[in-house]
Amino acid sequence: THFGFRTVAEEDKEKLVKHVFSNVAENYDYMNDAMSLGIHRLWKDHFVAKLDPGKRPGGEPLSFLDVAGGTGDIAFRILDHAARVHGDTESIMNIVDINPEMLAEGEKRSKQTAYKDGSRLNFKVQNAETLDAIPDNSQDVYTVAFGIRNFTNIPKALETAHRVLKPGGVFCCLEFSKVNNALFDTIYQQYSFNVIPLLGQILVNDRDSYQYLVESIARFPSQTKFAQMIEDAGFTLAGNGYEDLSFGIAAIHTGVKL
Ligand code: SAM
Repeated sequence: THFGFRTVAEEDKEKLVKHVFSNVAENYDYMNDAMSLGIHRLWKDHFVAKLDPGKRPGGEPLSFLDVAGGTGDIAFRILDHAARVHGDTESIMNIVDINPEMLAEGEKRSKQTAYKDGSRLNFKVQNAETLDAIPDNSQDVYTVAFGIRNFTNIPKALETAHRVLKPGGVFCCLEFSKVNNALFDTIYQQYSFNVIPLLGQILVNDRDSYQYLVESIARFPSQTKFAQMIEDAGFTLAGNGYEDLSFGIAAIHTGVKL
């Protein structure tokens, strides 16, 4: 690549991603906090507040699908929001991830939540590109947070998101994006390429996984290009389709299946 790092062949990417997340599963929150100075929690809170999930009065319980759901961070926030804001204690959550170790961590953490009896949670090992176990037109909301840039074939995953959502269903994605301020971008690039791999090395003795994370962020398309990809998969965008968070370090993209 132009950063001088090893280029990952497409067919190797899936294996590499599995390795990265198996390595980081246990230290996941610790490293997220260290790298983002805790800001990832605020982004996730905002992501869920903006989505405003939950069964509405007189409506049917909903089926949520959190893809690349890993440790359940987004899934539990969604169910908490639904209960707190909409009094919804019936809707169910499907948490899928390609990595069984990340899912196992999520299942373990679910025992510390209000959903510990498991009746409203389904954990499934699934590849986002195919979601074999998720029927067509079956989900009300599809969320993916800090997952999609790791997928080998992003257009295929977006088409699959469109397939599994019901008409009227909402696709909502939180992902690292492109910084929209030139001065800040210079600082951010320095931090990403110099500090993050070093933090990985010092804190969890794993420089390579964090080097991969930084590279995957740099490779991910811009806000407008990604919005176009969502549209190409058949979704209708709300406005320009995205909202920048923290100068575009992250962005939320939203699309509706009409
Ligand atoms: N959504 C969680 C969060 O925000 O904390 C976890 C995000 S973690 C950075 C990325 C997750 O994407 C990992 O758990 C990884 O296993 C998963 N992943 C990567 N490729 C995938 C794929 N093709 N299908 C499903 N999950 C995938």
